[in-house]
Amino acid sequence: MKFCPDCGSLLKEHLENKQVVKKCNCGFIDWDNWVNVAVVVTCYNSKNEFVMVRLKGNENGKVTFPGGYRDLGETLEEAAKREFFEETGYAIDNLSLFKVYTRDDLRLVWVVFTAQLGCGEFIENSETDEMLLFSKQNLPRIAYFKIIARFISV
Ligand SMILES: [Zn+2]
Repeated sequence: MKFCPDCGSLLKEHLENKQVVKKCNCGFIDWDNWVNVAVVVTCYNSKNEFVMVRLKGNENGKVTFPGGYRDLGETLEEAAKREFFEETGYAIDNLSLFKVYTRDDLRLVWVVFTAQLGCGEFIENSETDEMLLFSKQNLPRIAYFKIIARFISV
């Protein structure tokens, strides 16, 4: 960050608690702790099966949970509903916060919601080619256990 987001002045380097930070005369400090925010949705149907999607493109074939980056100006819930709809064609209800993960190596915070599957049908889209349902008794391939363990309370 070069300029203060509060007043627009040029930020100056400054030693603060043994850490070099950029500071403004108005008091604003750039702590260099920015992260991108991504949402993940673990969504269940009435039979307690959960939704995963098969990805297209760069990660072709990988099975994961619907989700993606929050756009500026969106609430986290709006981002979760939008991403879920884009990747599955379905609406979701009863969105509830499940867990939050911090990945500094990726400069990423994952916000994981649980939800109930609403109305819809799969829509052709650029990110996924299939919506899959799994139960905790019938989990997908072993390769996905790590991601499932992170986002589902098994
Ligand atoms: Zn300022």
